[in-house]
Amino acid sequence: MALPIVHNPAYDALFDPDHRFPMGKYRRLAEVLVEDGLAAPGTFIVPAPAPRDWVKLAHDATYVDQVYACAVPRPIEREIGFEVTERTSLRAQCATTGTVLAARLALEHGIACNTAGGSHHARFAQGAGFCTFNDVAVAARLLLADGEISSALVVDLDVHQGDGTADILAGDGRVFTASVHADKNYPVRKKASDFDLGLPDGMDDTAYLKTLALVLEELRGRVPSPDIVFYNAGVDVHAEDRLGRLALTDHGIERRDRMVISHFRARGVPVCGVIGGGYSRDLDALARRHALLHHTASEFAFSARSGSSEAAQG
Ligand SMILES: [Zn+2]
Repeated sequence: MALPIVHNPAYDALFDPDHRFPMGKYRRLAEVLVEDGLAAPGTFIVPAPAPRDWVKLAHDATYVDQVYACAVPRPIEREIGFEVTERTSLRAQCATTGTVLAARLALEHGIACNTAGGSHHARFAQGAGFCTFNDVAVAARLLLADGEISSALVVDLDVHQGDGTADILAGDGRVFTASVHADKNYPVRKKASDFDLGLPDGMDDTAYLKTLALVLEELRGRVPSPDIVFYNAGVDVHAEDRLGRLALTDHGIERRDRMVISHFRARGVPVCGVIGGGYSRDLDALARRHALLHHTASEFAFSARSGSSEAAQG
């Protein structure tokens, strides 16, 4: 079975190439996935814009209506880092549905990935830090509301702390939030997740992977059998990232993704992958870095299928 991959061309809101946010990475990522044989043109699962009732499961209703009406107050737009226009509103709506679809496909097939998502700085009241809607929080709340899951785990390895996810899901005992991030990075005021680990600047592959192995064992004890894991595979942990403070290589990121995915697949936990942050100016290198998630996940899509066929035969 091929890895189910969710993508919508509307993920690219067509910013000026000089914009601080490298919007073109979404289009380039889809191209790379086709070039690398992980998808054929026309085989992406294409998400429609999210109904606003879904988004209101995780965000203040007034803010949600402002985003849909492209009428977000300027101070909030400044915190987000771009204007909420028809294009950026549509991209947020589609990316949110994208993570919902990837989660449902993960429940069905064991693993699935979005080509966007991981907008973890969007908090209950509003967006921030290039994040308009918190797609993972919306997807978790929707699947819980529909009875498709009764628990979830968020493993957020983006280099920035998952403050928005922690804010929305604080006090919701059905979802366990975990964030491993560069301690000195944005956001300055962090919001407590259920598990947080702030890393020192400059951590390299070896130290990072050693730490991550311990974190995964800790989480196994804290959350023994979640119905799904949302994995934020932000690549801003890379040494050359403009906004990161860690020093991972591409190979280190690939090993990280394999460690996380193999850990949860071995435990039988469905994995929904979202791409998170990545801010290199070199769009091709950046897109290829994000594609490491899909490459690694695709190895486990195959084994998910053979596992289930073995079970059927046995
Ligand atoms: Zn980030």
